[in-house]
Amino acid sequence: MDHFYVDQEDIQGQTLVLRGDEQKHLVRVLRKKVGDRISATDGLDNSYTVVIRSLDRHLAECEILETMPRLNEPMVDVTLAASLLRNPARLDFLVEKATEAGVRTIVPLLCERTVPKHEKHSRLEKIALAALKQSVRSHLPRISTLMEFDELVRHADHYGLRLIPHEGTDRSQFVGEVVKARADAESILIAVGPEGGFTERELELARENGFIPVSLGPRRLRSETAAVLAVGWCVGER
Ligand code: SAH
Repeated sequence: MDHFYVDQEDIQGQTLVLRGDEQKHLVRVLRKKVGDRISATDGLDNSYTVVIRSLDRHLAECEILETMPRLNEPMVDVTLAASLLRNPARLDFLVEKATEAGVRTIVPLLCERTVPKHEKHSRLEKIALAALKQSVRSHLPRISTLMEFDELVRHADHYGLRLIPHEGTDRSQFVGEVVKARADAESILIAVGPEGGFTERELELARENGFIPVSLGPRRLRSETAAVLAVGWCVGER
């Protein structure tokens, strides 16, 4: 079923209104008609099955048939802190795929070896929104403001589990095993480094602050691959 985004303010009682790009996509691209059923999400953990009741040039008015709280949302709350990447298209990919995989929050990160100093924030938000619909989720991942690695690491105590994927970490620290051993963790923070990797100082600071270095296998992965795989291992089938 096609999955749409609806602003929470456009939901009143049993009525839900699609407007703007969502309405255009519904009418012009998918050629939906009055009486058709679709699903929609407010991106705040609520999804709905709805039937289209009326259409005009700007709005699609729908009746809510069923409310599905947390539809397709993982049981575990995963936050991905990922370094900005030299090629911005790789960060776009990371945001799209991590959203499909089930991440709840993405923190763009400045590490010692991070090359770019800024990210295109609204672009990343748009990519997350498209991926939310594509993957039929109920939660729109929040893209937080740019953060320094040190600041992130020093203020991460509230996460049940803190992981720092690092190439060359011993096999005994394979991410899947570490996550399995801590299946009780309700929230997980993952920090992934830039193309040049983390510095020794950063790894040490992370360890001091309770981060567990984890391996994603013997191959050296690109940052975006490492990020998506790490999210996948953390979410598992949960
Ligand atoms: N410093 C390395 C490459 C860094 S790879 C070099 O140039 O040789 C970029 C990031 O991806 C790393 O900081 C790490 O977070 C993650 N990563 C890549 N491969 C990994 C692996 N096999 N296991 C765990 N993390 C990995």
